[in-house]
Amino acid sequence: MRQAFPQQSHAAENMLNPARPRVVIIGGGFTGLAAARTLEKAAAEVILIDRSNHHLFQPLLYQVATAALSPADIASATRAMFSKSSNVSVVMDEVTGIDAGQRQVMARKSGIISYD
Ligand SMILES: Cc1cc2nc3c(=O)[nH]c(=O)nc-3n(C[C@H](O)[C@H](O)[C@H](O)COP(=O)(O)OP(=O)(O)OC[C@H]3O[C@@H](n4cnc5c(N)ncnc54)[C@H](O)[C@@H]3O)c2cc1C
Repeated sequence: MRQAFPQQSHAAENMLNPARPRVVIIGGGFTGLAAARTLEKAAAEVILIDRSNHHLFQPLLYQVATAALSPADIASATRAMFSKSSNVSVVMDEVTGIDAGQRQVMARKSGIISYD
């Protein structure tokens, strides 16, 4: 079986179906979340990687700066957003490199994550 996280045993690895193509999304901002939502029903295993554990709704940052909102009001746990998804795994890690030729993403804690 192909190892997505060879340098470290990872809970996400156990959830991946090796028979399905694997998609890695880097960043859980608006773009990454939209991509993951679009692929939620696809016949693919999706790994969403972000260095933080939450999505920040940046357009409302000024409301936090002016104390109209608390930081928690504009930040949502990324993992919670996909808790009901059967094919999206959320990984908190920092991507340090991409080898498009080898179809691999390098992440600080998880090591090499392969994709199709
Ligand atoms: C104060 C403010 C107000 C804004 N107001 C508006 C507005 O009113 N309307 C509007 O349309 N747009 C607004 N924007 C712009 C909008 O927020 C951005 O265009 C949008 O967030 C870009 O989305 P993105 O997914 O490309 O990047 P981001 O939302 O920045 O997401 C990138 C994600 O990638 C992660 N990441 C980055 N590097 C790595 C790495 N190496 N490894 C792992 N994870 C990584 C980050 O943690 C982050 O979660 C505003 C921006 C700011 C800062």
